[in-house]
Amino acid sequence: MNYAIREVTVPAAQAAAAGKELIRLNIGDPNKWDFETPEYFKATLRAAVDEVDNGYGDSQGEPDLREAIVVREHEKNGISISSDDVYITAGVSECINMLMGTFLEPGDEILVPGPGYPSYAQYINFFEGQTVPYRMIESEDWRPDVDMIRKRITDSTKALILINPNNPTGAGYEEKDLRAVGDIAAEYGIPIISDEIYDKIVFDGKFYSISNLASDVPRIILNGFSKVNLMPGWRVGYCYFMDENGLLDDIRNGFMKQMRARICPNVPCQAAARASLQGPQDYIVEMNRKLKRRADFTYKRLNEIDRITTNKARGALYMFPHIDLKGTPWKTDKDFVTDLIMEEGVVLVHGSGFCEEFGPDHFRTILLAPEESLELAYDKLEAFLKRNANRSQRPRTMRLMIENAISTTSSAIVRASVMSSDVEYSWSSTVKW
Ligand code: PLP
Repeated sequence: MNYAIREVTVPAAQAAAAGKELIRLNIGDPNKWDFETPEYFKATLRAAVDEVDNGYGDSQGEPDLREAIVVREHEKNGISISSDDVYITAGVSECINMLMGTFLEPGDEILVPGPGYPSYAQYINFFEGQTVPYRMIESEDWRPDVDMIRKRITDSTKALILINPNNPTGAGYEEKDLRAVGDIAAEYGIPIISDEIYDKIVFDGKFYSISNLASDVPRIILNGFSKVNLMPGWRVGYCYFMDENGLLDDIRNGFMKQMRARICPNVPCQAAARASLQGPQDYIVEMNRKLKRRADFTYKRLNEIDRITTNKARGALYMFPHIDLKGTPWKTDKDFVTDLIMEEGVVLVHGSGFCEEFGPDHFRTILLAPEESLELAYDKLEAFLKRNANRSQRPRTMRLMIENAISTTSSAIVRASVMSSDVEYSWSSTVKW
């Protein structure tokens, strides 16, 4: 499996070993910047360790957390589900893993937005399914290409994924697009899996959920506590099934078998997750205010740089700018990102890591860093492009730095090969973010 967002830590570790100061714009972890887990979530976690039963819990998730999620989803989306429809997982990641494991037989196809969060393709691949990307249209604010969804449906299509608001583009799906996707899914009898982990991180416009817009088709909505609730390390996520006619009963049974096999989610962290839904929510307003300022800054500053153009983000934590690599020494966005890391210490993620077909010639950046850090990073990016974009070869200084990094870094951790006129990486590592 390849997970681009953390793969860039390999050249980043090399750059750090060679003495570069890193500006890490690669990971969507609010807690790595100035977004702090509210004190009352922490207090609940501490108290839970002292006061709750620290034994195993319910395999489906603690009933009081599931009830709190029923209330949250009713308040946000106006829907009526029961706590039996809600399943708690170790982050949305475990949910994706178990859902793909349940849906897929080898060769089955899943429609996934391109670009899109890479975990989906990785787990589809792991279970020997086929990822079938549908285009998100850059010139139309990254809205989904509904015609392409229709064209790419086959007899082997088992589900359609939405990521809304979107990672990596920062787009929010419009109501009319969600209705159109819902209609196609209903026409072909394809369940929709909608990842809404950023549903309350919307700083421009309104959030629409497929949960209340496509009642003719079974929907599984994924959500979690890593982003909006600022507890990514506590690993709590969930999904709920909306399947009025029981068409997904077999899937639910298979999913529940996996939930039982992994015994239960972390019990004290579920108590904190429940508190985060029931306590004051004003920190979210402040969070969105900060993100909006940073998104506006990013949009303006990146569009000033020659060869880079970007759309506005409406939500989530990211932007996905286009970079014109024609006539530059970089054959791919991965080359570009690698050299930028090595020469300037600015860590971005290559666009092709979010979709081989619709991601190339882009990079993903985050909106989480304060303006001073973003400014420094984009000044470095601009200087780097001015210095190198018109060269015929990738910079020699960088090759020397890589050689130096290799000689000072344990080869068990980082492997790299340096060729005479070009540089190629073997990005394999256990280095952390
Ligand atoms: N889904 C999306 C769209 C994400 O962007 C992320 C993380 O960045 C995840 C899921 C993973 O979330 P979790 O921390 O709950 O596993």
